[in-house]
Amino acid sequence: MDFLRPTTWAEALAAKADRPGALPVQGGTDVMVEINFDVRRPEALLDLNQVAELREWDMTDGVCRIGAGVTYTTVVNELGGVLPGLAQAARTVGSPQIRNRGTVAGNLGAASPAGDSHPPLLAAGAVVEVESRDRGTRLIPAGEFYLGVKRNALEPDELIRAVRVDPAPGPQYFSKVGTRNAMVIAVCSFAVALHPGERRVGTGIGSAAPTPRRALEAEDLLARELDWTAPLDPALLARFGELCAAAAAPIDDVRGTAAYRLHAVGVMARRTLTWAWNDHLTRRAA
Ligand SMILES: Cc1cc2nc3c(=O)[nH]c(=O)nc-3n(C[C@H](O)[C@H](O)[C@H](O)COP(=O)(O)OP(=O)(O)OC[C@H]3O[C@@H](n4cnc5c(N)ncnc54)[C@H](O)[C@@H]3O)c2cc1C
Repeated sequence: MDFLRPTTWAEALAAKADRPGALPVQGGTDVMVEINFDVRRPEALLDLNQVAELREWDMTDGVCRIGAGVTYTTVVNELGGVLPGLAQAARTVGSPQIRNRGTVAGNLGAASPAGDSHPPLLAAGAVVEVESRDRGTRLIPAGEFYLGVKRNALEPDELIRAVRVDPAPGPQYFSKVGTRNAMVIAVCSFAVALHPGERRVGTGIGSAAPTPRRALEAEDLLARELDWTAPLDPALLARFGELCAAAAAPIDDVRGTAAYRLHAVGVMARRTLTWAWNDHLTRRAA
């Protein structure tokens, strides 16, 4: 197996264009497990860790741009105020060792339905910035990035360069059900993001369908019926929970049953919206 080690982004794109079968490695917390267990044997590994710019995040034209090499630890330590939903999700990933190596881009590359970054990225309306040497940059909305179980919209010659997310315009929350509190893959998960300026609530469901997905009918319901100046109507909250559960399409597997996941998605949807709404009203009153 060849080991390719570009030191610039241009070199990385050239290497991927010349060797589309080369498997990118960022933190390696998915890739190395798969190689160790012989799940895959790529013709080459494309180590992106020497491309320094990927480890940076910045604000570009008012949008937070998270480089593909930014770790969960950095998200937790530096982005909690800007992207609270993603930071909450990052806090639940694996262990300190995994958070020190693992990246949001690696989560996107792996495209597991259980990846913890996906629900908050969907809820916040994130866009994935991908690039190839020959066709340049593509901006793919998170909602269009996940194509199937562990399948994403990347072409063989493309790499993820960054994820672009607007700084949270309102409260955001993430909730995850697991069999314990740490080192656990989600049985299912849920995120909400309030967009008060647009009178809109974004949602993201994790580990309860072949891909992470939004609960679109539930979002439409709130866009139509939510009174942004009043306490949450219990009937509306209940209907929101039902529509979020209806948007899921879970399976029975070793981590949980489909029936449990449907129930849990509804509970988490009601809970996270209630938390976010309480924050929203507190901010209005301040
Ligand atoms: C013990 C353990 C616990 C874990 N716990 C969790 C958890 O709680 N929640 C969770 O969501 N995940 C968990 N994971 C999975 C893993 O840590 C995450 O998916 C992490 O985000 C992967 O990031 P990485 O940088 O290590 O990716 P890598 O392993 O380097 O790559 C993962 C995939 O993304 C591709 N990729 C990486 N970078 C790029 C790029 N720039 N462009 C294109 N493709 C790219 C790779 O080719 C590969 O297919 C756990 C893993 C382990 C080993």
